[in-house]
Amino acid sequence: MPRPHVYGTEAFTLRRIDYGEADRILTLFTPAYGKTRAIAKGVRKTKSRLAGHLEPFTRSQLLLATGRELDIVTQAEARERFEGLPSDFWSATAAWYVAELVDRFLEDADPHPRLYAQFVETLRRLDGQASEPDHARSWLTLRYFELRLLDELGYRPGLHHCVSCDQPLRPEDQGYSPEMGGALCPACMRYGGARRLTLSTLKVLRLLQTTEWSALPRLRLESDVQAEIEATLQATIRYHLERDLKSWAFLQLAPQQASQQASQQASQQASQQASQQASQQASQQASQQAT
Ligand SMILES: [Zn+2]
Repeated sequence: MPRPHVYGTEAFTLRRIDYGEADRILTLFTPAYGKTRAIAKGVRKTKSRLAGHLEPFTRSQLLLATGRELDIVTQAEARERFEGLPSDFWSATAAWYVAELVDRFLEDADPHPRLYAQFVETLRRLDGQASEPDHARSWLTLRYFELRLLDELGYRPGLHHCVSCDQPLRPEDQGYSPEMGGALCPACMRYGGARRLTLSTLKVLRLLQTTEWSALPRLRLESDVQAEIEATLQATIRYHLERDLKSWAFLQLAPQQASQQASQQASQQASQQASQQASQQASQQASQQAT
């Protein structure tokens, strides 16, 4: 959609870098214009009217003026702040990962309003799950979003028919090839270095791919199934992006950090420390994200 000279849009800041004395260059995700970059002038000054409305994990309404190279943010008003996210290391990392996925997969000015809606829903879920003691649901939230993102961008993995010979898959262990676009029957997986895809993993992936979030049952997955699902989707993402994502390393670290925090919380005195640490880590992470 061509942008008028001055236009209003809802937006999320996916990434930001400091620029000059007091400006910031923002990578924005918007429903109607897709991913776009804009400059927020003077936003790092304490008196700036924009400050506080363009933070990560904030849904904002913006007014922008089209510029020669970068659009200019002229007004910003926060509409929804996901305040649970920065307080919990795992949730902050998960939200950062979702933003990194969108940033890496989307080209500039390629609108995906359905993906935008999924993105907002995903941050709401992660925000709501930030206070939950176990991470099973937020882990599932990430896998659900990955599959929706792949669908939306035309990379939906084939999980019902062999992607090589097109035969319907039988209820048995299969192969999986990101290059070929999905599951391979046992006969076809012998050719072309496919990964193993157990029947349990295939079933969960199909369920996630075809079920609305609200209808998903509370899944309790064995750790090996969980690891295989994560590795399968990660291999698919790596194949399409031709790179690893920065946040993967932090997602590996996050459950350990979270359990360390939980054991510290056993002592009342230590619990204050843990939450201080969590918010320090989250803010460090947010500033790393900015670079
Ligand atoms: Zn086959």
